[in-house]
Amino acid sequence: MRCILLFCLLMLIFAGSVQAAVEIAREGENPVILEEVYVAEGDFFLSIDDVLNILGRSGSWDSVGHLYRFKTPAGTAIISPGSHFVRLGERFIPLSQRPRFIDNRLRVSEDFITGILPELLGIRLYYRNLTPRSQVAGEEEGSSIDRLFAFLLQRKKPEDAKTLRAVALDPGHGGLDTGTIGLDGIKEKDVNLQVTERLEKILKMRLGIPVYLSRDGDYALAPQQRLEPATRADVDALILLHAQGSLRAAPQGIALVVRPVEEYTGEALSASEGNSMRLARSLEEALRQEGLKVDGIYQAPLPALGRGNLPTVLVEMGYLTNPDDKELLGSVAGREKLAHAMFLGLQGFAEKMKEKENK
Ligand SMILES: [Zn+2]
Repeated sequence: MRCILLFCLLMLIFAGSVQAAVEIAREGENPVILEEVYVAEGDFFLSIDDVLNILGRSGSWDSVGHLYRFKTPAGTAIISPGSHFVRLGERFIPLSQRPRFIDNRLRVSEDFITGILPELLGIRLYYRNLTPRSQVAGEEEGSSIDRLFAFLLQRKKPEDAKTLRAVALDPGHGGLDTGTIGLDGIKEKDVNLQVTERLEKILKMRLGIPVYLSRDGDYALAPQQRLEPATRADVDALILLHAQGSLRAAPQGIALVVRPVEEYTGEALSASEGNSMRLARSLEEALRQEGLKVDGIYQAPLPALGRGNLPTVLVEMGYLTNPDDKELLGSVAGREKLAHAMFLGLQGFAEKMKEKENK
């Protein structure tokens, strides 16, 4: 019985419940209806070729490199199935959903089309999904996690609080999920945990506040378990720790990722959206002051960042495939430096919040 159910579900996910349709156009032009819409894991996927065609652009699939290239005003953008990033020259822009092959065509998620593509192409996009949300297979799980995030990840700080009351840390990956594997076989899951434990210790030592970890060992977590520490009533900030990898050795540096403004459903640029950005800027400043190379702050609608208004930043601490970054992340002294800088960033953020509240 379970097998049959699972099979049906897989059929729905992979064959796609193709009753979906979307309208796309460059702003000001007549929308074109695309019916070749696939649903996977509660998200809509469209062929990148179809979308670019409608926008008067084109791209090409490189079957040798297993990459898809398309031109943008800033150079050639590269996406590849299964990769969490769009590459644009030296820039790596994080994606919430990896592009994937479905039915022999490379397809990208709705988030990519509405959130990242217009910016890459330098155009304004009209996009409307004509599918009732209730028809989407697999929507249940994804959206219930979103709701959980929205419901639980709320900043609960009382008006008179003077500093951070508690911090939640989520070391990415764990168990069979190693994350990126870098030079000399260094594993992201280990680095994430090691820096997390260092940062935990510094926060406890210097501020004497509780620090809640999503995991304190090498094991896998369900999405709900990842957010559990951040749902504690006294948590004022959530940091997700990751490291990345590249096919080449050159990409280097720390990237900070926050929710995009348009993802937020409150007022245009609400105080809370601002708070994740403020935390990111404070971390960036502290990391730079410690002499660490920061690539920048990115906005990405990653599910892991949730939908609540708790100040939340995902820190990509460097490239395990770059010799300098690997040396930093692979050494006790390097991790100490990184953890200390993040502590200063958190502290700086708390001070700025205090000033703001006293005004
Ligand atoms: Zn990671």
